[in-house]
Amino acid sequence: MSIAFERTIHPLGTHRVLEPSGSMPQCAWKLDNTPVAFDNEILCDVETLNIDSASFKQISDACAADPDAIAAHIVANVRERGKQHNPVTGSGGMFIGYVLKVGKELRAKIDLKAGDRIASLVSLTLTPLHIEAVTRVDVETGRVWIRGKAILFESGLWAKLPTDIDESVALAVLDVAGAPAQVARLCKPGQSVVVIGADGKSGLLSCAQAKAAVGPSGRVIGVAPSADTASARLLRDAGLVDAFVVADARDALGICERVREHLPHLADVVVNCVNVPQTELGSILCTKDEGTVYFFSMSTSFTAAALGAEGVGKDITMIVGNGYAKGHAEIALQTLRNHPQIHRYFNHRYATPSEPPSPQGTPR
Ligand code: NAP
Repeated sequence: MSIAFERTIHPLGTHRVLEPSGSMPQCAWKLDNTPVAFDNEILCDVETLNIDSASFKQISDACAADPDAIAAHIVANVRERGKQHNPVTGSGGMFIGYVLKVGKELRAKIDLKAGDRIASLVSLTLTPLHIEAVTRVDVETGRVWIRGKAILFESGLWAKLPTDIDESVALAVLDVAGAPAQVARLCKPGQSVVVIGADGKSGLLSCAQAKAAVGPSGRVIGVAPSADTASARLLRDAGLVDAFVVADARDALGICERVREHLPHLADVVVNCVNVPQTELGSILCTKDEGTVYFFSMSTSFTAAALGAEGVGKDITMIVGNGYAKGHAEIALQTLRNHPQIHRYFNHRYATPSEPPSPQGTPR
């Protein structure tokens, strides 16, 4: 394995870009994933990948939900690109692992040392990743256990794992940490808020933050495809929404009609947390004129949103779902701590199995 140590190392990781030359790591087609740290990098032993929901759904659908096929798909993608960057959805996820080495230029700058257990807070789409084997795929949660190594750049964000929250739960929460943090910023007392995909990870946390932000004079409406899931029941039973609407967000007119039954003047803020494409117009139609749509979903098309809003004559603010907001990791974890019912649900759904994951299929 060779690494071009003569390359000029850059805090943003451009020295790892193989093609196209000159691009940034996130947009690059291929990164150098050699698992050796430059002086300004952190080398990690990776245990688990949390593939983002839009990406995992696409991969799972393409592989008929077969764990072996999903594992092979991920290994092939990482071999081709040097990172877990789904070419269809353009999205990635994040990882949990141990620090193996902190490059010498970083040692005095950051509070991290070999042996620390961390979650990456930057996307896998810009994280050099080297997979030796996939040992297990959990089709239900999008978690993938691997033997492998990853590199974090000097600019990369990471969080030490909390000691009071199961680490798989923390991984699931940290993956979507941008959503509750941005919702807390966007929603104001007295406003009406619609959260689409309310019964998913980011949706639940966003509803909790929206309820707190709008206060008793505001309204939060949760939208999901079914009222019968455990998380849909949780939304209603725990009072995380003022009303729950069953609708398919791809049916733009249908979802708008259902939301109007509860909000005749539509929503000040719409938060899109779905994991399927073609929900831009439904979100736009649910938004009041001069309101705001926050597209957290990775299935969002900029073109569909921009031209869709223009086409229906909506003067609204549309926010791209930046995965980062200052303090987002702590806000997201605290949302869980503040809501024991959500915490219990996450424990039930995402907590680390008591048995170690059994190897599955031939290591790749
Ligand atoms: P999740 O837990 O899988 O939740 C997805 C939600 O969308 C579920 O409530 C699901 O309902 C709902 N949904 C699916 N199809 C729907 C439809 N046709 N109409 C209405 N709702 C529908 O996903 P997550 O982890 O919260 O992630 C949500 C989105 O954020 C994904 O697109 C993910 O890729 C993206 N993401 C963005 C960032 C960022 O930085 N912006 C970071 C991480 C993830 P059911 O469960 O009932 O099917």
